[in-house]
Amino acid sequence: MPLLNKFDTAARIRKNLESGGHDPTHVVIDRIVSPTVGIVEGRRTILAGTNNYLGMTFDPACIEAGKRALENQGTGTTGSRMANGSFAAHASLEQDLADFFQMPHAMIFSTGYAANLGILTALCGANDTVLLDADAHASLYDGCQMSGAKVFRFRHNDPGSLEKRLQRLGDGGQDCLIVIEGLYSVLGDCAPVAEIVDLKHRYGAYLLIDEAHSLGLFGERGCGIAEQAGVLDQIDFVVGTFSKSLGAMGGFCASPHAELELVRYVSRPFIFTASSSPATVATTHEALRQLRKRPELREALWRNAKRLHTGLKKRGFLVGPQPSPVIAVQLGEKRKAAAFWNHLLEAGVYTNLMIPPASPDRHSYLRCSVSAAHTEEQIECIIEAFGYHHS
Ligand code: PMP
Repeated sequence: MPLLNKFDTAARIRKNLESGGHDPTHVVIDRIVSPTVGIVEGRRTILAGTNNYLGMTFDPACIEAGKRALENQGTGTTGSRMANGSFAAHASLEQDLADFFQMPHAMIFSTGYAANLGILTALCGANDTVLLDADAHASLYDGCQMSGAKVFRFRHNDPGSLEKRLQRLGDGGQDCLIVIEGLYSVLGDCAPVAEIVDLKHRYGAYLLIDEAHSLGLFGERGCGIAEQAGVLDQIDFVVGTFSKSLGAMGGFCASPHAELELVRYVSRPFIFTASSSPATVATTHEALRQLRKRPELREALWRNAKRLHTGLKKRGFLVGPQPSPVIAVQLGEKRKAAAFWNHLLEAGVYTNLMIPPASPDRHSYLRCSVSAAHTEEQIECIIEAFGYHHS
């Protein structure tokens, strides 16, 4: 096939997406006003699909820390840590992350995606086996694939299905790596971590949990779902991102295993890419301080999550059984969901359209992510806009 012909499929997909009005993959926010408001096509739009869970992107202390780092350390690091050296700020953020998770080791990556590729490819090779939750994020799938390990999926959030897989592996269950998320990003449901930890112990496996969407939102200290379930100290590898609740960019892994320090020597997504810029490290670090210092942010987030969940449910929408910082409204057929998404955007509410094959099942969803920075009034506006277009 000629090299460029393969884009015919992408062109068809784009045409279909555009036919409903706006292309949901190409919304341009002409001006960002706050963590929850942007100007889209001249309209003030409530942002209800940002993952900006704690509203940290406009936090004055984070902005100040970023500015100071820019002035004192420059705009970029211009290379990877292995070749060009680390800035003290990289090491200091790693130390603080280790303290936060109460684990002896932590390392940072330039993105959450790179963290998952970097850790999985370092941990696993052709002779290893990974048991992966079927709804895991693309970065976890990609990391597994790049590692060359044998990968078996188990049914989403189903410890019974995981146990069957472990039994089928026989002795191979020993030493295999189980990979899950904390809060799943599309439907907003949580992993049964305590049951999975129990299985890991019984079969002698290792457990990696991606807390990308749960960092700062769950657990007494805000470490995530594993902390909330009381099993954080039994997790082998906690990975996550700085791009959501911390409002910055970058990824991390924390672990009780000293081998994490050796990942630095073998992990290509760590070695062959530039390290995070000083401003990014500084805003991340300050956001981590704010997260620890201000539990009221988490309280505001949960108040808003409950308000939105109750409001949408009352209006007859199909939402998950529990309030969650991620609320996915099930809408059935693709075209109907796309039309609904367009109506909402025109009414000044931006959500995320999730249609098959990007959604975890055959349904389409409008995914809302709630922020601590949403006002009560904004949450009511979102509910109103949904209700108005309900037919
Ligand atoms: N893991 C999960 C579960 C995610 O949802 C995401 C981002 N959507 C990532 C990893 C990647 O994080 P980043 O955006 O920092 O690359």
